[in-house]
Amino acid sequence: MRILLIDDSTTMRRIQKTQINGLGITDVIEAGDGEEGLKKLEQSMPIDLIMLDWNMPVMDGLTFLKKVRTMDAYKDVKIIMCTSESEKTRVVEALKAGANNYLVKPFTPEALKEKLGI
Ligand SMILES: [Mg+2]
Repeated sequence: MRILLIDDSTTMRRIQKTQINGLGITDVIEAGDGEEGLKKLEQSMPIDLIMLDWNMPVMDGLTFLKKVRTMDAYKDVKIIMCTSESEKTRVVEALKAGANNYLVKPFTPEALKEKLGI
């Protein structure tokens, strides 16, 4: 399984990457905003899953999500929206825009495992 992790916080990426690695998944690609995420997605297919932050500079998570969902090449790529507690109310918006699931940060390894379906 290959995961693309998009978050503008390097600390958050490090924490999430450690958790993903802890589940035995070592193929993790990182990006710091939606625009970089699009580039990495294009360069690194096949990607199975994208873990997507909401608030980011340059291109935010929702804009990235909407763009990716217009592209046929990525229709099978699962997207999990990673939200903070305060953004939780906007989750419906992300699900309507094509996110497969969401996680509220900071999340436990158990919650991550469940959402990854492994
Ligand atoms: Mg952020």
